Amino acid sequence: MKAVVCRSPGDLVLEVRPAPGAPPPGWALVAVSHVGICGTDYHIFEGKHPFLAYPRIMGHEVSGTVVDKGDGVTLNVGEAVIINPYLACGKCIACRHGKPNCCVKIEVLGVHRDGAMCEQILVPAQNLYPANGLSLADAAAIEFLAIGAHAVRRARADPGARTLVIGAGPIGLGTALFARIAGLDVSLLDMSSERLGFAESELGFATLDGSRATAADLVRGATGGEGFDVVFDATGNTQSVQSAFAHVAHGGTLVLVSVVKDDIVFSDPEFHKREMTLIGSRNALGADFDHVAASIRNGAVPLAKLVTHRTTLAATPLDLARWAHEKSGLIKAVIEVG
Ligand SMILES: [Zn+2]
Ligand SMILES: [Zn+2]
Repeated sequence: MKAVVCRSPGDLVLEVRPAPGAPPPGWALVAVSHVGICGTDYHIFEGKHPFLAYPRIMGHEVSGTVVDKGDGVTLNVGEAVIINPYLACGKCIACRHGKPNCCVKIEVLGVHRDGAMCEQILVPAQNLYPANGLSLADAAAIEFLAIGAHAVRRARADPGARTLVIGAGPIGLGTALFARIAGLDVSLLDMSSERLGFAESELGFATLDGSRATAADLVRGATGGEGFDVVFDATGNTQSVQSAFAHVAHGGTLVLVSVVKDDIVFSDPEFHKREMTLIGSRNALGADFDHVAASIRNGAVPLAKLVTHRTTLAATPLDLARWAHEKSGLIKAVIEVG
């Protein structure tokens, strides 16, 4: 089968690889249909991902069709499916507490093991959800939106809560969309006027342009000096995360959606006087995938606006390398495999 392989940082090629064998019990063989390209993939390509073994087949935002199944699998051959790419051990403390998204031994397809930028992939059946009438193109967008939906669920905010999402990339936009679906009053902060222009004109969000004034001044202006009830950071930027503590209102909540590799330093008196709730959010759960799928089905997610670029498996090595640095107008790119 054809597969796009990242042999080492900066070296992405189309290779012919052996097709996966017959699925073992509890697993299914999926013919890949669509694969979203994620910030993580650009990081892997650029060699910026902290613990990654090369060569690697990337791709974790995936839809496809079941073509073969092992014993005990109830899905039907021919069924359209969404892949949950977080393979969990089922035994560790997180798994026992119903949190496979932060399994101690988690293996993410396309990161810790080979992913779906190829024609076929073996997946545990418990990680496959029927697409239930969603198109395979739409189904491939569920995973990146589920990250935001999960972060919003983690915040447990009341409808109407004044909410700031920092970072207007795909994860930030997904977080903002699902915060709005949850009834929160959402503003987006970013350093890019182009991204904010899109968020405002195409998605209808209030925006704070960090290229025009300091974030502190913008937050003060937007909240009458009180700060936001809920702040989500989706920048992956250490400086931004550290500044975000100051944007939270007394009694409010800070949710760290994206991860940074550095230590985060904050003032304990500032943190304590607010009685701030600090929440980490990692990956997503099956319930988040269901919520996103239902929201796409009922028209609450303007997916057509978010998917701005398309390519094929054969053209991926060139296109992905280009999009890693040509970000103008790019929100989400999708590989059409099948
Ligand atoms: Zn992703
Ligand atoms: Zn586990």
